[in-house]
Amino acid sequence: MNGSAETYRPDAERLNQTTARADALSERYGALEGEALLRVMLEWQYKGRIALVSSFGAEAAILLDMVARIDPATPVIFIDSGKLFHHTLTYRDILVRRLGLTDVRTVEPVAFDIGGHDPDGELWRHNPNLCCYLRKVLPLERALGGFDAWITGRKRDHGGERGGVETIEAIDGRIRLNPLAHWSAKKIDRTFQERGLPRHPLMAEGYASIGCAPCTAPVSPDAGGRDGRWQGHAKSECGIHHARWS
Ligand code: SF4
Repeated sequence: MNGSAETYRPDAERLNQTTARADALSERYGALEGEALLRVMLEWQYKGRIALVSSFGAEAAILLDMVARIDPATPVIFIDSGKLFHHTLTYRDILVRRLGLTDVRTVEPVAFDIGGHDPDGELWRHNPNLCCYLRKVLPLERALGGFDAWITGRKRDHGGERGGVETIEAIDGRIRLNPLAHWSAKKIDRTFQERGLPRHPLMAEGYASIGCAPCTAPVSPDAGGRDGRWQGHAKSECGIHHARWS
């Protein structure tokens, strides 16, 4: 795919080293999850070299709260694709204030990419993969420059290709942590209540997984967590979690 200039390309040595590192970390910390795993990584193993990537979506508040309790100055990367619900931007601001996060980095697509490929803003209709690549994948790749590890909120319970997510992985020459990989929807709900965290306002309108406005729909209560995303397309992921280099 085309786009503005690539910013990062790990060589084979870095890819191999990261895979070995993920194996070693998994052997040592594979029994940890949630805040315990985050504490080890944020305070010790990757101190100053790790970022949380957050959508400020339906379940995001839990990881944000955990990170804030450990170190509110942890970098948090938020991708504003330019197509988000205004509710998400408001929710981001509410959570940032409430949790005391001090280094939330909102990253956006490059104007050159959008002007060249999506001048009318309708690319999502006929080529959502390219739209996600320009509006999400490339901005995140640029934002992760300088970090050796990142944290996501992916869970096995989301289904689809997330069914086999591990808590510690290697991807594209970096360590990726999924501290809630084994958490169920019930445990997520319980934790929201226990911690008194506010829910994303669109959840009250039937949205279960919340991404860009044109590509997210409300779902019935018995639907899968990501069933409301990219309806009508054979697509369930935006691509930021797919390996690009091997
Ligand atoms: S989710 Fe939809 S609007 Fe957002 S970047 Fe992907 S295709 Fe574009």
